[in-house]
Amino acid sequence: MYDYSAPENLLANRTVLVTGAGDGIGKAAALTYAAHGATVILLGRGRKKLEAVYDEIEANGDPQPVMVSLNLETATPENYQELADMIGEEFGQLDGLLHNAGILGQRTPIANFNEKSWQEVMQVNVNAPFMLTKAVLPLLESADNASVIFTSSSVGRKGRAFWGAYAASKAAIENLTETLADELEGVSNIRANCINPGATRTNMRMKAYPGENPDNLATPQDIMPLYLYLMGNDSRLVSGQSIDAQ
Ligand code: NDP
Repeated sequence: MYDYSAPENLLANRTVLVTGAGDGIGKAAALTYAAHGATVILLGRGRKKLEAVYDEIEANGDPQPVMVSLNLETATPENYQELADMIGEEFGQLDGLLHNAGILGQRTPIANFNEKSWQEVMQVNVNAPFMLTKAVLPLLESADNASVIFTSSSVGRKGRAFWGAYAASKAAIENLTETLADELEGVSNIRANCINPGATRTNMRMKAYPGENPDNLATPQDIMPLYLYLMGNDSRLVSGQSIDAQ
């Protein structure tokens, strides 16, 4: 696992938006960021899962979160602007953004790949992070040291048979991270990095590898040190990197 030990108040007085916060790695990140002092904006497509995370954060006595129901497959630039306006009104700035939500799509040869599935994956995994980042950039700019984290995968570094749109989407995310980081370098306090979580015990992993014994996998909680490091100020000089969480 990535080696970093975060102080308990690492994210005190910070507002952090997490996409796909209702389940899997995003849920663990939302709970972990809140436990380290952040006010977390929980974004997901279903209220039920978000409410469970909201309740858990409240029960832990951590800063009261905010829930945002938004389907990244259908959200428009106007929806992202409305979200940015809401954050601006409530907080005046945004200190952190974790682009975690993602879908696997079909796992089949390119020769058989369904066009609709391809577009869905690209919409959720690439176009949504682009549109959301663009909408909140002024809010990130208003913060002292804002951190944007994208989520990649090993197949985003090297394509692999049958991983089709998912692999291409993660390669695009690696490149988007580099492009954004390069544009911001020297002219902004915003940094942009990418996390490759590695094999982690979630619904997505079980869908991708149904025969695998989940007991042999890292849990979302296990990989949180890198999520904390890149979100907190200890990484303020790190940008444009793609880092393995395990
Ligand atoms: P999960 O499927 O467990 O969680 C994905 C999250 O994204 C869920 O909260 C899901 O919501 C949300 N989401 C999916 N589609 C949408 C949408 N249209 N609008 C809003 N939210 C949406 O996956 P993981 O936790 O495993 O994955 C998290 C990230 O890590 C992904 O980007 C994935 O590609 C990446 N990753 C994961 C690995 C692993 O081994 N687990 C390995 C490498 C990368 P809902 O619960 O409603 O479906």
